[in-house]
Amino acid sequence: MDGFHFFSEFAELSAQDQDLIQLARKASNSSYSPYSQFMVGASARLDDGRIISGSNQENASYPAGLCAERVALFHIASSYPDRSVDSIAVVARRANDTKFKPVSPCGICRQVMLEVELKQNKPMRVILQSADGRWVVSESAQHLLPFSFGQDSL
Ligand SMILES: [Zn+2]
Repeated sequence: MDGFHFFSEFAELSAQDQDLIQLARKASNSSYSPYSQFMVGASARLDDGRIISGSNQENASYPAGLCAERVALFHIASSYPDRSVDSIAVVARRANDTKFKPVSPCGICRQVMLEVELKQNKPMRVILQSADGRWVVSESAQHLLPFSFGQDSL
């Protein structure tokens, strides 16, 4: 698959990507997920090296909740509008489990990632763990959303 890099072991990832994943793991601790018990953390590295993290935030009115990736990306857009996002890492675990399980961004987050990328006119790397346990680094959010809907579609 063009545009994707696969790593069998965590240690094979670059030190920077390992750091980002560890920060995403830490961010999952602030997840508010009493309904799904699914704790997600996302950490994004900006072009100035700053790292912004987010966790999923649920609500009794289910659709009002927000995924970790969008919590982080919208925080970046509102607080650091002049910065671009180089990379984002996403991790998840069950509330009663310290072990992280492979997770991939949902469709809505992919759509938001795509728009971030188009807005900044620069690819955003996406780091996740595939179902087979391998780590995946996508060179661009666009690869995660083929045949996508964007501003050109309007
Ligand atoms: Zn999502």
